[in-house]
Amino acid sequence: MLAYTYLKKGRFELQNKPKPVLLNNQDAIIRVTLSSICTSDLHIKHGFVPRAVPGITVGHEMVGVVEEIGDAVSSVRPGDRVTVNVETFCGSCFFCRHGWVNNCTDPDGGWALGCRIDGGQAEYVRVPHADQGLNKIPDHVSDKQALLVGDLLATGYWAAKISEIQSGDTVLIIGAGPTGLCTLQCVLLQSPGQVIVCEKDPQRIRFVQENYPQVLTVYPEQALALVRETSLHGGADAVLEVAGTADSFRLAWQCARPNAVVTIVAMYDQPQVLPLPEMYGKNLIFKTGGVDGCNCSETLALIADGKIDTSLLITHTFPLRDIQAAYELFESRQDGVIKVAIMP
Ligand SMILES: [Zn+2]
Ligand SMILES: [Zn+2]
Repeated sequence: MLAYTYLKKGRFELQNKPKPVLLNNQDAIIRVTLSSICTSDLHIKHGFVPRAVPGITVGHEMVGVVEEIGDAVSSVRPGDRVTVNVETFCGSCFFCRHGWVNNCTDPDGGWALGCRIDGGQAEYVRVPHADQGLNKIPDHVSDKQALLVGDLLATGYWAAKISEIQSGDTVLIIGAGPTGLCTLQCVLLQSPGQVIVCEKDPQRIRFVQENYPQVLTVYPEQALALVRETSLHGGADAVLEVAGTADSFRLAWQCARPNAVVTIVAMYDQPQVLPLPEMYGKNLIFKTGGVDGCNCSETLALIADGKIDTSLLITHTFPLRDIQAAYELFESRQDGVIKVAIMP
């Protein structure tokens, strides 16, 4: 089968690999019907993910059809359409029991797919702990509507949930890339008073204005002034940092009101510094990534009810054999690209 493979820093290649087989009685084999390219794939490509194993098939956001299951798998059957969670987790260790599945202590726990074990930019993928990592897609929900459930939408849902947003709050979201837009949809479900989206790309600002007219948009240079003007207590009640640069990190704590929650959703490629003397007395609560992706049944239900729709974020689709071109488009941010889907 075709599988897009991480060879070494700076190099991915489409290779022919054997179809995966069940290795454990809790595994499932999924025939991938749609997968996607994520910014984290680019992080692997550029060597920012030290735990990524050379030789693995990349891709950790996908949907498909169950092909085969191990003896111990009970939640899905061959033929079921499923979402695949970015995180594989045992469901029973200390961290899993608290819902912190990102830190599952199982050898395959956390973000393994497309990083430490073969992922889904391929025709088939083996999913360990299938009972935890797979969710059935409701009949009237399309692959495209369900594609982001396991990773970006899980991230947005988790970020909105841990940010302790109260009804009526002013919420600042920094970054309107694909993850920022998923986060926005989930934040809007929490009945905030005002949502402000800060973004430096005019195309992305326009996308937010067109699709979410109830949201205020602002460029980074004006963000601090707008947030102070719009919020009741000198800053945002909750800030969700989804942009991942030194500037956006600084803006996040600057725009927060005292005692606010600042949720760091972004993955940085450099260490970030908090100037604590300058911040003293602000009493901020920082929450850092990454996602605990264990809410997929909830987000699938919200999609089925029409409360979340991320299909409009998928602006381009490429066949697997042209995945190289898909990466080039995604990385260059040409042609209004937000999210690229890959069809095996
Ligand atoms: Zn991802
Ligand atoms: Zn666990």
